[in-house]
This record gives sequence, structure tokens and C-alpha cells, in this order.
Amino acid sequence: MKYQRSSALFQEAQKVIPGGVNSPVRAFKSVGGDPIFVEKAKGAYIYDVDGNKLIDYINSWGPMILGHAHEPVVNAVIEKSKRGTSFGMPTEIETDIAALAVSMVPNIDKIRFVNSGTEACMSAVRLARGFTGKDKIIKFAGCYHGHSDSFLIQAGSGAITFGAPNSPGVTKGTAKDTLLATYNNLANVEEVIAANKNEIACIILEPVAGNMGCIPPAAGFLEGLRKLCDANDILLIFDEVMTGFRLAAGGAQELFGVKADIVTFGKVIGGGLPVGAFAAREEIMNYLAPIGPVYQAGTLSGNPLAMAAGLAMLKELNENREVFNSINKKTEYLHKGLETALKTENVKFTINRVGSMISVHFSEVPVTDFASAAQASNENFKKFFHGLLNEGIYIAPSAFETWFICDALSYEDLDATIAACQKVAKKLN
Ligand code: PMP
Repeated sequence: MKYQRSSALFQEAQKVIPGGVNSPVRAFKSVGGDPIFVEKAKGAYIYDVDGNKLIDYINSWGPMILGHAHEPVVNAVIEKSKRGTSFGMPTEIETDIAALAVSMVPNIDKIRFVNSGTEACMSAVRLARGFTGKDKIIKFAGCYHGHSDSFLIQAGSGAITFGAPNSPGVTKGTAKDTLLATYNNLANVEEVIAANKNEIACIILEPVAGNMGCIPPAAGFLEGLRKLCDANDILLIFDEVMTGFRLAAGGAQELFGVKADIVTFGKVIGGGLPVGAFAAREEIMNYLAPIGPVYQAGTLSGNPLAMAAGLAMLKELNENREVFNSINKKTEYLHKGLETALKTENVKFTINRVGSMISVHFSEVPVTDFASAAQASNENFKKFFHGLLNEGIYIAPSAFETWFICDALSYEDLDATIAACQKVAKKLN
């Protein structure tokens, strides 16, 4: 494969955009090489500016459950845009998509739309603080909830001690209110709560972690968190930016049968347009302005194009629930194929999968939290990534990301992917 035009565009981009990208992981820093510039995408494929066709396992980091440029979504955006692109005034479609989301997701009465997953999580935490009158939050090392200050807290420092910022610009004052805990470790969460009695507003987590590769919640972990929250007047926030409308119509709450107090969404709920949302039962949501004291706002929130794309997407997922089975089956097929291929080539690996989220860690040790994810071989991952790219398969350019399977993928695509993985695996240690 040739990437001259992508490389040339990257050179130009770096002159006027920091690092040449508008979101860091796109720059291929952890795998090396130049990023690929996209010309267009359709179904399961990305077409780059050099004329390469790639099978896409990122799917815009999750939302393209039905594939790229899905016709009902594209048509909804085209039709809507002819009637104006933003008003900053209420529109009927906002109620339509809100009502549909509320009907699909368990335990929520009201939902508010924002413009990104970051905004959704940031606002959810403010709401939890306002509702409970407490300041501190617990987050898990390795979970990502966007780039707002409270969430950019370094993994690895003692969970009970105050967090330390891992990005300059996050103040010590902010960091001290974010307490770190270890994913899948209830005893650790209990310790953190005990050391901060009556000070914790919420626990926020990815109910299936997708930002340290894919890490499923251990049996009883989510249920245990629910109990701890109930016993200590703490709100449980499920960040379903990746899992919402993907693992089931009702997301992780439905899949695991565990109630969250606040749920956040992103990506999927906008059909690939810049949308996020947060939702909860009425008594919590009514704390928001204009009826409650917690302020939260957005000029482009509920934007008509974004709502049109999101509504088209959610309608299809709601009316055709078979999609969830179909993507799960495809992912299971990929899982089995990858397992056989990597075993045949004697590679040390762990595959984690929940529904249509899957990842390969180059380690034999079970990957259950950030520390176990971090000890997997990044050298092997880099070779795997570039080897697959050379075979026309595009996975996320970082070992700490999940593959997202879309329904546009055919079994031929999956077979081609498995064969490519086996070929590439021959060059791994
Ligand atoms: N939460 C989770 C679980 C995410 O994966 C992400 C983004 N990958 C976010 C929040 C932040 O969303 P956004 O990038 O839209 O701000």
C-alpha cells in the first residue's frame, strides 16, 4: 500500500494544526508512522486519499453501528439542512429523539442533548455534585470520560490519596476532588469511600471499559458498585458513550440488569454527528437549569442536523433489534477466528470481548484493569497494527482502544481480516 498523499497532507496539516490533528490519538504517535487521511467512507470501508480501500474496525470510534454513510442517516441530514442548520431555538425533532431515547433506555425519564461525550460526562458530574451537595468523584484508572479537567487524572497513584493531574493545566484544586480506584476491584472502591466518608457525589465508570482496550466488568462488579452507592448516598454514573445503543437498545444497564442513576451518551446517539447526551430519572434531571439550580447550556445543543442524524439512527436500531444479534454474532465469529489464528502462530495474547466490542492485548495475563492492560507488549501491537494496515485492515492506532464492529461488515470481510491477522502474527514475538 502507498500512503504518499496522506503523508504529504500530514506535513501540510502540521504547519497549521498542532501535531496535524484535531484529536491526539489520530496522529499515530504510539504506533509510529504518518496517519491516513480519509477521502470518503461507505459501509464497512474507508477509502483514503491515496486510493487505498481499508476495512474499518474503528467506525468513527463507535457510532457507525450500521456502517458509514448509511442512507437513512445521510438523507435525514440532507433534508434537514435545506431548512436551516442552526437556530438556537427549540425544534420538534429534539422532543422526538428525546422521547425515543427515553423509551429505549431503562431508568431514565428525561435526557438533555449536548455536543460531545466530554460535555455529557462533565455535565453529568456537575449535576451529581449539585444534586448530592458533595464535591468528590470516584473514577477508575484507565477509564476515559473526555478531556474535561476532572477526568484527566493520572492512573497509578494511590487510590486513597488525592489524584494528581496528568495534564498541565489541570489545577491541583480540581485534581484533589477526583479520587482514583482500580477497575474491577470493589474492595478498593470500598476503601476509597471509607476514607472520604460523606464527601463523594458520584462514581463514574465505563460499564464495559473501552479505553484500555476492551475490559469487561467482572462478575458482580457493577452490582457491587450499585450497592456501595446506595449504602453511601452516592450517584452511580454509567458512561455509555461507547456502550449505549451498541451493547443493547438499552445499553449496559439493559445488558447487565444494573441501574445507573445518570447515564451519559455520545457518538452513537448522533449517528456520527457531534452529539452527546446525559439522562436520569426526573428528580435528578429537574435539578438542571432552567427549572433547577445546576447550570448547563449550549448554543448548538439539540442542533437540527445532529438530531436528524441521531433520530434516523436510533429509529433503525429500535425498529430492527436484530441488528444487535447480528453485530454480536459477527464479533463472536471474528473472536473465534482471531483466537485460532494467534494460537496457531504461538503468539501470547488475550482477547477481551463484550458484544460487538473486542480487543487483542499481547499478553497472556488476564487483562482486567489498567495495570494488566499496560503490561501487554506494545512492540507486538505496533507490528500488528502496521502489518494489518498493509493488508488493508484499519484498527485503532493504539493498544488502549477497542475495535468496534459494524453491521455493514460481511463474513468475507471478517475472513479476510482473520487471514490477515494470521499472516501478520507470523512476524510477532
Ligand atoms: N466517554 C467515553 C467512554 C469515551 O470513549 C469518550 C470518547 N472516546 C468520551 C467519553 C468523550 O467523548 P468525546 O470524544 O465525544 O468528547
